[in-house]
Amino acid sequence: MKNLVDKLLQKHMLEKDEFVALINGFNEITTEYLHEKSREVSKKYFGNKIYVRGLIEFTNYCKNDCYYCGIRRSNNRVERYRLNFDDIMNCCKNGYELGFRTFVLQGGEDLSYRDEDIVNIVSSIKKLYPDCAVTLSIGEKSYESYLKYHKSGADRYLLRHETSNELHYKKLHPDELTILNRKRCLLDLKEIGYQVGTGIMVGSPFQTVENIVEDLIFMKELNPHMIGIGPYIPHHDTPFKDEKAGNLNLTLFLIGILRLMFPNALIPATTSLGTVDPNGREKGILAGANVVMPNLSPVNVRKKYQLYDNKICTGEEAAECRECLNNRMKKIGYEIVVDRGDFIQI
Ligand code: SAM
Repeated sequence: MKNLVDKLLQKHMLEKDEFVALINGFNEITTEYLHEKSREVSKKYFGNKIYVRGLIEFTNYCKNDCYYCGIRRSNNRVERYRLNFDDIMNCCKNGYELGFRTFVLQGGEDLSYRDEDIVNIVSSIKKLYPDCAVTLSIGEKSYESYLKYHKSGADRYLLRHETSNELHYKKLHPDELTILNRKRCLLDLKEIGYQVGTGIMVGSPFQTVENIVEDLIFMKELNPHMIGIGPYIPHHDTPFKDEKAGNLNLTLFLIGILRLMFPNALIPATTSLGTVDPNGREKGILAGANVVMPNLSPVNVRKKYQLYDNKICTGEEAAECRECLNNRMKKIGYEIVVDRGDFIQI
């Protein structure tokens, strides 16, 4: 196992069966060795700096019906909300004062925001805060829409591929959603010039080790700038309510693998990691992650953006979240910095 970790460190890639062996055989000793290396790599590129992104969950309306997601369209128990232009600009104002230099606009696929609305929001943020990056995470759109958003100033786009295996994809999504279109979107985004993020849920229902390995291989081909992975967590009002949550240690192991595969990538320690373990985000950083994404949404809507059960940080003001994360990072020897935190080509 140590040889495989060493090979991954040197070559940033393994053969398919080597990945399978590494993941199948993961244990405490391998994990410790892997994380020693992944932490070193992370330190080499980022020192003890942690980049911070202000997450604005601006709508929980969604036209999609992903079987795992708490805000899927068929969940009629969700109290739906959308933030208007002024609400979003207020989140940014608050965030800017708190030292955020990246705003992530995330939401369900809500068609009531037309392309012109997104363009207006993005260009207004960029005009008021030219030193900030804007990241969009609003799902699958046409090439033309992505291009319009990019021209209006959007710098980055997050779109997890969820699983690159077609059969597995079908088990997680209704027929109108396809992995083909998801991949088309990711390629379009790259071609247009976005910094692109993708990723998976670890332990999503029906996921096999082979599926995870296919995901690693797909990610190598795509070569994203950002990679977000977190454990799958069930939501009580979805068809997958009785499925079990993804494993914390496997998620941390995979963060270590991804850091060795993509030494300079931006990898967040996700909210779902913090949900399955009170120190999940700290553990994510110590496994090789280098980004945290506290919530900037108004407190009165936070509980309504419930992708999964028991999501953390739904009761605090943005300033409290920021302060809390500052302290958490300091405790493990890292420091959140005021910086756009762009991807740097090496
Ligand atoms: N609609 C956009 C999209 O599809 O990319 C962005 C919002 S979507 C809710 C953001 C991410 O939440 C998804 O990519 C998915 O990986 C994650 N997610 C949804 N349900 C989840 C669950 N039950 N457990 C963990 N993560 C979940």
